[in-house]
Amino acid sequence: MSVKTDAYVVFGNPIAHSKSPLIHGLFAHQTKQAMSYQTYLAPLDQFAVSVQGFMQLGGCGANVTVPFKLEAFDLAQTLSERAQVAGAVNTLLFRDGQIIGDNTDGAGLVRDITVNLRRSLQGARVLLLGAGGAARGALLPLLQQLPAQLCIANRSVEKAETLCALAASFEIDDVQLSVLSLDALAQGGVGQFDVIINATSASLQQESVMIASDVFASDCLAYDMMYGDVATPFMRMAQSAGAQTADGLGMLVEQAAEAFYLWRGVRPDTALVLAQLRGDRQA
Ligand code: NDP
Repeated sequence: MSVKTDAYVVFGNPIAHSKSPLIHGLFAHQTKQAMSYQTYLAPLDQFAVSVQGFMQLGGCGANVTVPFKLEAFDLAQTLSERAQVAGAVNTLLFRDGQIIGDNTDGAGLVRDITVNLRRSLQGARVLLLGAGGAARGALLPLLQQLPAQLCIANRSVEKAETLCALAASFEIDDVQLSVLSLDALAQGGVGQFDVIINATSASLQQESVMIASDVFASDCLAYDMMYGDVATPFMRMAQSAGAQTADGLGMLVEQAAEAFYLWRGVRPDTALVLAQLRGDRQA
């Protein structure tokens, strides 16, 4: 008897570095799902063709990463609310020949902060650094946690203002929305924040947004969406200001778990997988 194994991939370019096959392999083993999950290096000008080819071969679903999240948004015939708000898609579901686009990044971030790191966002003063795709994807899931404040700061202030206007359009009462320039953050005297989330790609260039130490509330959580083998420049700056820090590995695992749940209807135990990845990193 042959058992058909359901096939999933992550589309990206480059993609060899991706931890997603390892994460989904651990989820599948843990939850006893008969499935495969591999990387798929899509040519830069052939994302849609690659997705359609994979569907025709019987693929069951996919993740999408850099640089294809916007193309995935355009390709999907149906979009979840959170994908519409994010303006980007990181998870594809194939149903009856149709492509459904979702975005699990923001949910992954919020779950990592509130469950894994045990930090409530309700009533918190939150500072979001950056106004690119990751920041936009985080916007609605963050607001749904009902923070007291959500302040957005970005190198190009007009992009922060656009994101702030989008946040206001959700009409979530009692969240005070504002925008700050990076210069103001560097100078300080702009109030304090309980949670500061770095959604810029500055850490990729080994740089950090500069933040005056008086901006970190006592017991502040400074969260960098970027992850790596060592603390990022943003995390090192926050540590010297006395903040608790976390990188984005937990977000990566949690966004993957959310996608896995959409595909398989089963929620994996992410704590075990995260512990294993952190252990591997130290080994
Ligand atoms: P985008 O390219 O869409 O946006 C980049 C943002 O970073 C912009 O706001 C840009 O500002 C800002 N920026 C870039 N360089 C600097 C700098 N030197 N100083 C200050 N600001 C800077 O990227 P994404 O939003 O897709 O990704 C952002 C980060 O989030 C990346 O590090 C990525 O790895 C991480 N990420 C992590 C995930 C996870 O699962 N852990 C998931 C998704 C993303 P400006 O508008 O002025 O250009």
